[in-house]
Amino acid sequence: MIPFLSFTERHRRYQQSMMEAVTRVFRSGWFILGPEVEAFEKAFSRYLGVENVAGVNSGTDALCLALRALGVGPGDEVITVANTATPTISAIRMTGAMPVFVDVLRDSQTMNPALVETAVTQRTRAIVPVHLYGYPADMKEIMSVAMKYKLSVVEDACQAHGATYDGRMVGTIGDAGCFSFYPTKNLGAAGDAGAVVSRNAQVIGDVKALRNYGEVAKYINHIEGVNSRMDEIQAALLNWGLPYLEQWNNQRAKLAALYRASLKGLPVEIPLCSDNLRGRVWHLFVIKCAKRDDLKRYLREREVETAIHYPIPISHQVAYQFLGYQTSDLPVTEALAQDILSLPLYPELSEKDVSFISATVREFYGTQM
Ligand SMILES: *Cc1c(COP(=O)(O)O)cnc(C)c1O
Repeated sequence: MIPFLSFTERHRRYQQSMMEAVTRVFRSGWFILGPEVEAFEKAFSRYLGVENVAGVNSGTDALCLALRALGVGPGDEVITVANTATPTISAIRMTGAMPVFVDVLRDSQTMNPALVETAVTQRTRAIVPVHLYGYPADMKEIMSVAMKYKLSVVEDACQAHGATYDGRMVGTIGDAGCFSFYPTKNLGAAGDAGAVVSRNAQVIGDVKALRNYGEVAKYINHIEGVNSRMDEIQAALLNWGLPYLEQWNNQRAKLAALYRASLKGLPVEIPLCSDNLRGRVWHLFVIKCAKRDDLKRYLREREVETAIHYPIPISHQVAYQFLGYQTSDLPVTEALAQDILSLPLYPELSEKDVSFISATVREFYGTQM
């Protein structure tokens, strides 16, 4: 059985040093917003090459608090995409604003920058591009529309830790960048955690107040906040994991290259790789394929677990019917949802497994001819 994702091997290999990090927190007797969080904020800031970082409770909260710090609230519109994890939209709604969806480019599956301008209204306040599966969105074009209409840009980099665009880390290009450290992400905690990063100290100052009841100093509230603090155990494990991030990303890239080579010549569209402008990372390996559901079943029967990210565009979810999107409003997004399939990809997956999965895909199309 090849699981879609497994931590077993990592935990086996690193159990001792991971437990040492946790023990350090117990010894300190300090569990929320302490030295581990501060150390992680510094380390992540150095890693990304951006001055200001705030650790928060999740990627969802990172997006919500970043938008709030940039002044987004009830009555505003935020332009984003519908082929994303639900939390992108939850976060926008948590500010009181309304999401407005634009379609994506079929090749990159990221926001079609040519459509952004057509979605701008009097109420538009911000744009949230998603670096989906680790592939950077068209930031140059998105930033120029934002500049023209004086909109804020909050990058959803929750799937793109370490990806670069035009030589800069994604998350550091817009007004703020948001990361999730949900366990399955390229850098994951052992629970929920997230971070907001920004070149603007004011934005991160506001996020740091917002995450802690709105306190600018103990018992002094200038803004209405929430509780979205990063805890010390998660921060200690992130301090442990950050030094491995490049190595893990490289290993994912190596396995992705093997998939790319071994899936050639099949009725399968292979995901885009890095180019002169973009240094992508591989969060997910998502193919576009003929007879997707049959292929998924075929792999399942041969003990290969796959997934679909995401089977229903947010615009078409029951919970978001109130936004009023109709079938065929987002034709590329809707078509993609029928064709995409995520194959297993994580640093501990073996090359042998990738070869077996690719051979099984080949075998499936062989039986279909
Ligand atoms: C994981 C993810 C989030 C939210 O992260 P949580 O930490 O689970 O709240 C937001 N956007 C995208 C694209 C994600 O993949």
